[in-house]
Amino acid sequence: MERSTIVRVHEGLHARPATRFVKLAKGFESDVELVKDGKAVSAKSSVKLMLLAVKENQEVTVRANGADAIEAIEALIGYLENPKAGLDDEDTHAPANEAGKEAAPAPQSAPAASGEANGLRGVAASEGVAIGPAFAHFPPDIAGQGRMLQAEEIAGEIDRFRAAVVAVQARMDRALAQDSLSAGDRGIVAALRDIAADDSLTGEAEKAIKGGNDAVSATITAASTIAADFSAVDDHYLNARADDVHAVGRQICLVLLGQDDVSLENIPQGAILIADDIGAWDLARAPLKCIGGVVCGHGGATSHIAIIARSHGIPAVLGLGDKINALRTAQELALDGNSGQVIIDPDAATRADFAGRVEAAAKERAGLTAFKTVTPKLADGRTIEVAANIGSLEEIEAAQEAGAMGVGLFRTELLFMRHMHLPSEDMQAETYAALAKAFAPYPVIVRTLDIGGDKPIAGIEFPDEENPFLGWRGIRMCLDRPDIFKRQLRALLRAAVHGNIKVMLPMVSDISEVTRSRALVDECAAELKAEGVPHATFDLGVMIETPAAVLIAPALAREVAFFSIGTNDLTQYIMAADRLNPTVAKLNDVTNPAVMSAIELTARAGVAAGIMVGMCGEAAGRPDLIPAFLKMGLTELSMSPASIQRAKKTITAMAAGE
Ligand code: PEP
Ligand code: MG
Repeated sequence: MERSTIVRVHEGLHARPATRFVKLAKGFESDVELVKDGKAVSAKSSVKLMLLAVKENQEVTVRANGADAIEAIEALIGYLENPKAGLDDEDTHAPANEAGKEAAPAPQSAPAASGEANGLRGVAASEGVAIGPAFAHFPPDIAGQGRMLQAEEIAGEIDRFRAAVVAVQARMDRALAQDSLSAGDRGIVAALRDIAADDSLTGEAEKAIKGGNDAVSATITAASTIAADFSAVDDHYLNARADDVHAVGRQICLVLLGQDDVSLENIPQGAILIADDIGAWDLARAPLKCIGGVVCGHGGATSHIAIIARSHGIPAVLGLGDKINALRTAQELALDGNSGQVIIDPDAATRADFAGRVEAAAKERAGLTAFKTVTPKLADGRTIEVAANIGSLEEIEAAQEAGAMGVGLFRTELLFMRHMHLPSEDMQAETYAALAKAFAPYPVIVRTLDIGGDKPIAGIEFPDEENPFLGWRGIRMCLDRPDIFKRQLRALLRAAVHGNIKVMLPMVSDISEVTRSRALVDECAAELKAEGVPHATFDLGVMIETPAAVLIAPALAREVAFFSIGTNDLTQYIMAADRLNPTVAKLNDVTNPAVMSAIELTARAGVAAGIMVGMCGEAAGRPDLIPAFLKMGLTELSMSPASIQRAKKTITAMAAGE
């Protein structure tokens, strides 16, 4: 028997809701299938179900055959019609390739990877210098036996394979049982465990063993087949699951081979980690406190490892390409995360130089702590707010420890990227309220979603674009998707009751973007009022990060409560130099007179209109530029928590006329 329905599960049968659906289906004896567009798959396999890519509002049919078919259909249809199905504990379940932490900005320079007489140069991805023992992490490629099994060997090989799968599942269950696992890491491991527990991978592998392949070769083939299926689906989130399938396949193979994975668990204190790339499974288990520095063949200033390195204050040089192989046998490495320089087995003079720089940096950090509680004022009495750029609640403590006078930029992208579904209004309201409370009475400036086709988000389909940085991103996307935008604005209005929330719009290039946003804010406020939901108004500002915004700054200033200059994007757009492209890194220079003029024009327009002008791009934390910005009239600078005390010192010295 069968019954059809329209799926109401929020964002469809993505990973967690699919796994829950399968669990429910497995509770029935009957054979159960889910049918979409004429394609039927077993409702007892989460991988197959995910690959069916069932989205919200699509029509599906549940088909059951067996003694309890009626009950099964009843329960499964009920599940599909519940918008909240499978989402109750999902907030702890991040995608397995999601780093889960926002970070301080990357250093300014990001030169192209190149060879140098005394070492190598890569992308400067996380600032700071380090010197320490080399720890090479190059997990060997895994290969099967390369011979076909005899018929009498097959049953034994299947047993061996099943035992390996059980061992991997048990290992993942043990990892999940650890209290020390962070929510993000738990999500990574849980996603992998779901795949390891699914019949698709094991079924595919057993089929290959029955065809005469040894278990390792069969696992490699099965993982590749299923990963290819995930890669082929028209859904960014599901595409990223391909890496998870490979990671699980690798774990099964290692058990079969009786090998331990090359683990980061035993990395010595202060060692420099060298890898071609670092996967989600490794990252979830890496003892980051021990790692002195990171050097990778893959990656750039915005890759996962860069974000993690910056948030943990670990110097990193990435994007070395094949040159990483020259480091495989290194004993010791020195690296400069500001310039991208990596020196292999440094001589005595270099070693002394780096040791001196590491010590000087530690001394500087110690000397700056006196500025934590300072409220910097200029000679004319103006207070300069030195605030923090953060992207998650986990960073509140670091910002407060540094002495942040509020938050000048809360990037909301992570909130959206961390989850397998769009964050609910309630969840967003809680997050923004927690921020507001943590920093009150200081302001917390929340930036509305600034996302584009370069970063996948479950629940938003981006078109393929030739130039995503010039495409459907930031305020452009939000205005086209009022369902997403209004949910965020309503959450912000609700959170404003709890502290000093301000809101800013990213990527503004036209006045109408502000007026349309304001109309939506008013609409949301009216709805909340009608619903009797407590809420409060907030100041609305804009980021100045496009040349258009600079050129219309006088008109924009009449429409908004504040400006915040986003020098990262402003520099790339003024200079027409991609901020992620190391080849044009030299042009991507905020000190170029063209960019400095744009900043000055903006400041002048804001000051003339009597609104606050701040800056939240990386340049805001640069001691060499802060005096110039303050002379232009900026009164707020927002930066990575790591830069706050140094900035306060710079302003204090400037006020004292030093
Ligand atoms: C900027 O562009 O300067 C900025 C602060 O925004 P983001 O780096 O998040 O694009
Ligand atoms: Mg920007």
